[in-house]
Amino acid sequence: MKLDWSETDERFRGELLAFLEAKTPPEATRVDFPGNASGGDAIPAWLRAWQATLFDHGWMIPGYPPELGGRNCTPTQTMIYLEEFARRRIPRATHFPGYAIVAPSLLEFGNEQQRSLAPAAIRGDTVWCVGMSEPNAGSDLASLRTRAVRDGDVFVVNGQKVWTSYAMVAQQCFCYVRTDPDAPKHKGISLLIIDMDTPGIEVRPLTHITGHADFAEVFFTDVKVPVANLVGELNGGWALTQGSLAHERAGLWVDGVARLEQTVRDLVDLAKLVGRHDDSGVRRAIASMFEQASSLRSLGYKGFASYAQGSSAPEHSYMKMASSEAGKAAFELGMELLGPFGAATGAGSPTTLGDDTGRWVTSFYVSFANTIAGGSSEIQRNIIAQRVLGLPRA
Ligand SMILES: Cc1cc2nc3c(=O)[nH]c(=O)nc-3n(C[C@H](O)[C@H](O)[C@H](O)COP(=O)(O)OP(=O)(O)OC[C@H]3O[C@@H](n4cnc5c(N)ncnc54)[C@H](O)[C@@H]3O)c2cc1C
Repeated sequence: MKLDWSETDERFRGELLAFLEAKTPPEATRVDFPGNASGGDAIPAWLRAWQATLFDHGWMIPGYPPELGGRNCTPTQTMIYLEEFARRRIPRATHFPGYAIVAPSLLEFGNEQQRSLAPAAIRGDTVWCVGMSEPNAGSDLASLRTRAVRDGDVFVVNGQKVWTSYAMVAQQCFCYVRTDPDAPKHKGISLLIIDMDTPGIEVRPLTHITGHADFAEVFFTDVKVPVANLVGELNGGWALTQGSLAHERAGLWVDGVARLEQTVRDLVDLAKLVGRHDDSGVRRAIASMFEQASSLRSLGYKGFASYAQGSSAPEHSYMKMASSEAGKAAFELGMELLGPFGAATGAGSPTTLGDDTGRWVTSFYVSFANTIAGGSSEIQRNIIAQRVLGLPRA
């Protein structure tokens, strides 16, 4: 058994590192925690330019062909790519819906005209949002009620979405609507592409506890959407919701685990900074987090091996849940170590113990969102119980 990268893979890594050395914008290396990338601007100009550069050089989604911002690389090389980005904490883009959810779904389920929208979504030229969640349909997405009624060549859409990431800057929405209210709830849903400047759409940004507004409520009142904007079959939208979410989950663990490993290293520095490095309780807690991060990495590789060989990787449901929960515990420990100083964020404030950007408190807040977005921890546990352990539905 050879547990090493092949020469071709190492050559691939060398090319990637040379590219990153030459082209990474200085701002990208200063994004050291979530929420810091945008500085309050939903998509800063440097990040838009960086995404386009990655696309033009075949480094945006390396497994895709060049016309889709890639270089036809193997799954193992994609893993190398994701790890090198995560290790350096370099973001590819902040507005993930377009390249990570919409483009793969359009390529899989769209007609020719709809597939032609994918390159701009991946390059970041078009900003997309995904309209799934509603006030009474989150985990139970199939309960969504936003209604689309056909009237000649258009659907007339009425209803409300919520938690719609990037809706305030998006040009297009991948919007799930109910087209048959009489069918069983999974069978009456369709997917529409809705231009966000269509009359009747109102976007109300939601500011979260960090002070940033990355998502919004979206209201639809008699919004006319061409019938040609239907993606896939009428009333066949449920299959697409499953596809969209699968795309979202496939590569998330690498980033999650790399972030956790970095946080453990930062906790060691923080414990030294506040003089708690010889406290046995603190040492035990950090060592246990190190153990968890290492186990998760090994499990991630195992899931990746199945995925690369074309099998499903149920490990990924566990990875999403475990890495986000471990992240939450790690930032909580950071807040404990900082004590009352933990909540201070003012730049240059003498009370911030050198942590003058508010890294811990912002990451602590965001760590809660990570256990909800893309499927909450409770829902992941249900999936593990039923699909991995074979337990009956509760
Ligand atoms: C940062 C962030 C970005 C997001 N971006 C988007 C986006 O771009 N587009 C979009 O459509 N949505 C988005 N969401 C919404 C997200 O998908 C939902 O928040 C999520 O699906 C949970 O739905 P909910 O908030 O309605 O909670 P609910 O489903 O009402 O759940 C409330 C609580 O009950 C638990 N629960 C629910 N059902 C069960 C069950 N069967 N068994 C056990 N426990 C259960 C949940 O785990 C949760 O703790 C985003 C959310 C976050 C945090």
